[in-house]
Amino acid sequence: MVVLKTSGELALMREAGKISAQALQVGGQAVKPGVTTGEINRAIHHFIKSQGAIPSFLGYGGFPASACISVNDEIIHGIPGDRVLKEGDIVSIDVGAIYKGYHGDNAATFACGTVSPECQSLMDVTRESLNRAIAAAQVGNRLGDVSYAVQSYVESFGYGIVKQYVGHGIGTEMHQSPEVPNYGKPGRGIRLMPGMTIAIEPMVNLVGEGIKVLSDGWTVVTASGSPAAHFEHTVAITDNGPVILTLL
Ligand code: MG
Repeated sequence: MVVLKTSGELALMREAGKISAQALQVGGQAVKPGVTTGEINRAIHHFIKSQGAIPSFLGYGGFPASACISVNDEIIHGIPGDRVLKEGDIVSIDVGAIYKGYHGDNAATFACGTVSPECQSLMDVTRESLNRAIAAAQVGNRLGDVSYAVQSYVESFGYGIVKQYVGHGIGTEMHQSPEVPNYGKPGRGIRLMPGMTIAIEPMVNLVGEGIKVLSDGWTVVTASGSPAAHFEHTVAITDNGPVILTLL
């Protein structure tokens, strides 16, 4: 069932979203050659706690950290640790916070120093596909319009959309109905209504759509070994158009 939020709930989700966005910024600013992913996770964790919020990923399904940090061919769910970042890496950070019972969830891929033109383009296209999906998140449109906005843009560049993992409704739980795929047909799916809140999160591979899950049981990598990018915002659908809740 899709839960519609009141304006009061949306205000609380905006607060959770702001903390989530700030936590993502803290992580992104820490991305530098020589830094470990574990250090970035700790900075994010301490920031979220300093805001009186709860890191929503920590312990979720047993996940051992407060952020997912996925480097190069890692698409999502990378476990922070001793890995040392180096010049040219691309680093996807996914982080959420719970504040006053409501969740925010966002992600972005950051360049570690100077990255290849191929990686820069992949990141730019993935970010723009998210922007286009958000623009399609209008009352009266259907969910397929959002999905199609991602797919049509990404595939025009020949990149591979990850299909096994999808965006999601969000609110008092991190994952609620509906699922928000990054592929679909315009005019299909549920009709978008005021008060719906969804996390839209294109995951895009430079080469091919295939994925593998590593033996740690979490880290999802590209089957091709090519790099991947991931951008995500939590978005409210309102009568005044889409509102990004995970803004600074
Ligand atoms: Mg998400």
